[in-house]
Amino acid sequence: MSTYQNTLAHAQGLDAVDPLRSFRNEFHFPQHAGRDVLYFTGNSLGLQPKAAADALKQELDDWARFGVEGHFHAKHPWYSYHEELTPSLARLVGALPEEVVAMNQLTSNLHFLMVSFYRPSGKRTKILTEQRPFPSDTYAFASQIAFHGGDPAMDLVEVQPREGEHTLRTEDIIAKINELSEELALVCFGGVNFYTGQAFDMAAITQAAQAVGATAGFDLAHAAGNLHVKLHDWNVDFACWCSYKYLNSGPGSVAGAFVHQRHLGPKPAQGLPRNEGTLSEKAASPAGSLSGDPTEVCLGNGLPLFAGWWGHNKSERFKMERTFKPMPTAEAWQVSNAPVFSMAVHRVALEQFDRAGISQLRAKSEQLTAYLAFIIAEVAQHSGTHLEVITPNDPMQRGCQLSILAHGHGKALFNRITERGVVADWREPNVIRVAPVPMYNSFEDVYRFGVILTECLSASH
Ligand SMILES: *Cc1c(COP(=O)(O)O)cnc(C)c1O
Repeated sequence: MSTYQNTLAHAQGLDAVDPLRSFRNEFHFPQHAGRDVLYFTGNSLGLQPKAAADALKQELDDWARFGVEGHFHAKHPWYSYHEELTPSLARLVGALPEEVVAMNQLTSNLHFLMVSFYRPSGKRTKILTEQRPFPSDTYAFASQIAFHGGDPAMDLVEVQPREGEHTLRTEDIIAKINELSEELALVCFGGVNFYTGQAFDMAAITQAAQAVGATAGFDLAHAAGNLHVKLHDWNVDFACWCSYKYLNSGPGSVAGAFVHQRHLGPKPAQGLPRNEGTLSEKAASPAGSLSGDPTEVCLGNGLPLFAGWWGHNKSERFKMERTFKPMPTAEAWQVSNAPVFSMAVHRVALEQFDRAGISQLRAKSEQLTAYLAFIIAEVAQHSGTHLEVITPNDPMQRGCQLSILAHGHGKALFNRITERGVVADWREPNVIRVAPVPMYNSFEDVYRFGVILTECLSASH
């Protein structure tokens, strides 16, 4: 029994009481046949906030006006630009400010964090992930394993769904963690799988991983800005995400990283056991040409990291000394200075998340996606088509995306809805992904999607 109705009036009624409805006007929508497209790919590239152009113009103007002095005299000084993003990022992923930093790109961050958190030794060499993670993550895992001299075919393990099922059961994930136990170095899942749209129980996975002595990390590409994430409370070791999907910060924009508080802090003055074979020893010149301390590139608890000048303690950064003194925060993992142009867009996009609030967004999202599930079921029933949603039905196990298997229609159906102004996406081998985002999608969008889907299905008979 559903409280929803497949009518325009019902959808418009839901929009009328949506406290977030005005955010839609803050975005540019691509046009199709004189009206806004039905944009359901905020999980791939979020729409452009209208405020982005002015934010970019500000940086260009400050660059023209100040040249290098813009590092300190720009309206948003470039030297500390990333710091302006920190409080919003912390709220977004449920972290302390010192635990997050905006830097680099997503896969780069995954690599940099694995340098610290994937440290195979002895028989503890394996990485456990979900079935079919995003390919970039698979490449990153496999290449890290190979980099440490391991064999990806042996050391990269994916949890598989049960026969006849599309998604994973938490109990099976935990059973696999316990089975691998002391062979497990790292458990690294997506927060939400890009293909199935399944959201994983990050708290339970983290607890199980740490209980067997492994570290737990998450790729939040499809979770940041989509789920209500609480990284600190869940005790996650590390996480990373991109900003161009749900976070609307533009193609290739700056990514984010989280490192739990307990891993932070500079190296104490003495008494720390040195990690055999860390970068520091390898970097030490045999000719003894380093003056002063050799470059000791690890953190207080012996965690190694790949260092760069932007991770150096900022109060001494411009002394340009040889010895690396890490920031006592997640900023220690920064290697390079801040990409200000992409951060300018990220700043205004995050400001919208602050105004909307992640709990309010999530509340709307659960309703919007439930409405989409209802509409898809209606269309399937009335058109006599088998439209199978493989994303879990339980709101706790999904974000806003639904992945549809259109048995026998697949790509042709996808092409037909695309011609009608629906922007969804097709993912090989046979899924149509539809992601109504709470920030700018409406219930009317979802209703209209149902109308087009029905028309396209009847045309194909
Ligand atoms: C989108 C996505 C990526 C893309 O990586 P980039 O480094 O941003 O190009 C990687 N992993 C996951 C899980 C993704 O969803």
